[in-house]
Amino acid sequence: MIYLKSPTEIAVMRKNGAILKAALEKARDMATPGAVTKDIDAAIEKLLLDAGAKPAFKGFQGYPASTCISINEEVVHGMPTERTLKEGDICGVDIGVWKDGYYADGARTFAIGKISAAAKKLLDVTSEALDRGIAQARAGRRLTDISHAVESYATGLGYAVVKTLVGHGIGRQMHEEPQVPNFGPPDQGPELEEGLVIAIEPMVNIGASDVFTKEDGWTIVTADKSLSAHFEDTVAITQGGPEILTR
Ligand code: MG
Repeated sequence: MIYLKSPTEIAVMRKNGAILKAALEKARDMATPGAVTKDIDAAIEKLLLDAGAKPAFKGFQGYPASTCISINEEVVHGMPTERTLKEGDICGVDIGVWKDGYYADGARTFAIGKISAAAKKLLDVTSEALDRGIAQARAGRRLTDISHAVESYATGLGYAVVKTLVGHGIGRQMHEEPQVPNFGPPDQGPELEEGLVIAIEPMVNIGASDVFTKEDGWTIVTADKSLSAHFEDTVAITQGGPEILTR
């Protein structure tokens, strides 16, 4: 069941998206060589609570932290620890916000100090893949037009997209229908309608597409240990086109 949102509901989600944007900016500012990932998590949690919001990930299926912080070959769902970020790392920070009955979800992957040209290119390509997916989020298009735009851009440049994890509808639940894959042929799935709100979240690898879950039960890594990047925004389909709620 797909729940379309009224303008009133989208207005609430827009406010939550603005809180998330501030949280992502805080994460960006903190993600520097020498930073401890647990400290970033604590600062984000404080920012969300101070804004009257709740960290949506904390307690979700037993998840222990407020953010997911995934470094280098870690794709998503990395847990904040005592680990220190090093010059040359890439660091994905994924944040969920809940306030006034609605969720927002967003992620960025940051360069830690000076990074390799290959890592920089991966970040640029993943971010651009997200933008190309968002550009398809228009009433009258179909769901997999987003998927196809993401995949064709990334694979066209020699990268692989992760297929076992997908974007999702979002609203009163963090994960609603429809699923939003980052791959597939265009022009399939439900027709996109005004009021649909989705989290689009490409995960792009330098190497192969395959991933697995580490022994901690959460952290997903690339099978070939290649670098992986993740960018995510919560996007509302409006009369005027896609509105990115988390930027
Ligand atoms: Mg998500």
